[in-house]
Amino acid sequence: MPGAGQPSPGAARPRRGTELSRVILTPEEISQVQAQALAEYPAECCGVLLIRPSRPEDRLLLPCRNIQDELHTKDPARHPRDARTAYYIDPRDLLSIGRREAEGYRVATIYHSHIDTGAYFSDTDKRNALINGEPAYPDAVYVVLSVVEGKAAGAGAFAWEPTRRDFVPADLTLPVAAR
Ligand SMILES: [Zn+2]
Repeated sequence: MPGAGQPSPGAARPRRGTELSRVILTPEEISQVQAQALAEYPAECCGVLLIRPSRPEDRLLLPCRNIQDELHTKDPARHPRDARTAYYIDPRDLLSIGRREAEGYRVATIYHSHIDTGAYFSDTDKRNALINGEPAYPDAVYVVLSVVEGKAAGAGAFAWEPTRRDFVPADLTLPVAAR
């Protein structure tokens, strides 16, 4: 609550703490996502972390199904890439995410893996994250995991920076400001 006036000692403080920062992914969540990325190699994996603000916050990791291969097989002209270089979240998973959002959860982290290449935020990743030039989930942090030759090879986090109007690297292990 910026600009809310004088601090009222005590009352406002704990709430502020939970509102102002959160960890992008906990070590346990990172290992779950890594395990998924390795299991689905050489296809890109994808999923989201949902958070419901409360004390302690309610975190829900939701691995999603990448249906890119099915789309590519059905219509290669429209979907030239297969799951090795792209991901497409199963619409059924999007429905589950929508149901959770109705329960008060919000999308905090959106992750996917890269196959045999680095954990960078590609032009395609950026394009997919924007709708008419605006971020689809301005509060969400994107996490990219690199899997090279079947082994975990690093991860990167990228957050929307409104003043630069671009996604900039964030530290995966440190709390980020909730916006
Ligand atoms: Zn990507």
